Amino acid sequence: MNAKICFIGAGNMAKSLIGGLLASGYETQNILATDPNPEQRANLTSQFAIQTYADNGEALMHADIVVLAVKPQILRQVCAEIHDTVQASSPLIISVAAGIRTVDIERWLGGELPIVRTMPNTPALIQTGATGLFANTQVSTEQRSQAEHIMRATGLALWVAQEDQLDTVTALSGSGPAYYFLFMEAMEQAAQDLGLDAKSAHLLTMQTALGAAKMVMESQQSCAQLRANVTSPNGTTQSAIEYFEAHNLRGNVAGAMQAAHKRAQQLA
Ligand code: NAP
Repeated sequence: MNAKICFIGAGNMAKSLIGGLLASGYETQNILATDPNPEQRANLTSQFAIQTYADNGEALMHADIVVLAVKPQILRQVCAEIHDTVQASSPLIISVAAGIRTVDIERWLGGELPIVRTMPNTPALIQTGATGLFANTQVSTEQRSQAEHIMRATGLALWVAQEDQLDTVTALSGSGPAYYFLFMEAMEQAAQDLGLDAKSAHLLTMQTALGAAKMVMESQQSCAQLRANVTSPNGTTQSAIEYFEAHNLRGNVAGAMQAAHKRAQQLA
């Protein structure tokens, strides 16, 4: 793939995508980025040796693909800034802005355009992200594979067939890292209450989470089977699992995700 990609907004998410693309062999001269902040541009040039611009319209004249990587609350204003250039050249638009629907981006950019909306998560910043993607009907097969290639630079990229499924992706992988942080926080605290020092509790919690995630990823077995494998009758794990089940852990997880899903629908 040698399309020219222009990142509008060169903050955390853009830097992660650019870093991942360059690491996967993408040509430096095919990546451009814009940002109003001179320090941010200088930082990008020294870190990645890519061309940067202060002016969005000027950068876009060279682009086949535009990645909208600004905060959701300023996306409308940014679309107004690039409206004319985008209408003239009709590039593939990829948005990473949380909660902004393709119909709104299309309307702000002034008409029918190929748009891929994505929902990445924070681990994308360390190339272990999980991103949901949705393409509107203007996106060609080649553009779908281009969008997937770009988002894979930060981890897993998975298509959804209907845009509202991105609200479920938001409730699962978008907000999901925080659920695990909370669970780990609770495990650490419980271990300290049971007599372990803080550092040991932290290290053992982290390594346990990493080990469990790796086992699920590398095994052909389901989570339920892996759990059964380590739950001996009348053993310590069984005591803990029975406590979780009796105190409605599954119902609480479902309730929390329904709340996140509802909030994603309200925000969009
Ligand atoms: P960020 O670090 O704040 O980056 C946004 C960048 O855009 C900033 O450098 C900002 O410059 C720049 N900018 C502001 N106005 C601009 C304009 N008119 N033209 C071009 N650039 C402009 O934000 P981020 O964390 O990368 O998030 C970017 C998008 O990714 C958001 O829409 C967010 O919803 C989405 N996302 C992020 C994460 C995550 O983990 N970070 C996860 C999922 C989704 P100034 O700082 O000078 O304003």
